[in-house]
Amino acid sequence: MNPILEYIKTQKPELAEFITVIDTLQTKDQEEATVLEDMQDEDAVELFDEESKVKPEAIQMKKLKSEILKLRQLVKVLKQEVYNESQLNHDLALAIGACKYCFGCDDDCNNCHGEGAPGFFVPDYIHYKELILPAIKKFNLHFNAKTNY
Ligand SMILES: [Zn+2]
Repeated sequence: MNPILEYIKTQKPELAEFITVIDTLQTKDQEEATVLEDMQDEDAVELFDEESKVKPEAIQMKKLKSEILKLRQLVKVLKQEVYNESQLNHDLALAIGACKYCFGCDDDCNNCHGEGAPGFFVPDYIHYKELILPAIKKFNLHFNAKTNY
C-alpha cells in the first residue's frame, strides 16, 4: 500500500473504507500498466497487426490520466476530511469558549490576539450541552467527583 495512504488510514480509521478502495484502484491500475508495458516489448507488439498496435505515447497518456483521476479522488476525500475536522474544531471551540481560529495559541490572531484559550469567551450553550456535558458526566462517574469548580 502507498505509504501516504497507509499513514492516513492509521490516523483516520474512519476513512479506512475509502482508502482501501483507492488502494484497490491503484493496485488494479498498476497491474494494467504492467500488462500494457509488456505489450510494448518488441515481440508482443509484433503479435498485433498494424491497425491494432498501441502506441507507447498513448499508453503513457492513459497511465497519466489514470494517475490524475486517482489523485483527484484522493484530494476530494482529503478535502472532505479537512472540512469535517475544521467543522468539529469550530464547534469544540464554541463549546469551550475558545477562539475558533487558534484556541488562544496565536498572539497574532486577529480574533483574540492570543487570549482565546478555553474559557476566554462565554461557551455556546448548545455546543457546550452537546460536546462538554457528556464528558463531564462521564468524568464525574469515573472519578466519583463533583463539579465544584
Ligand atoms: Zn485566536
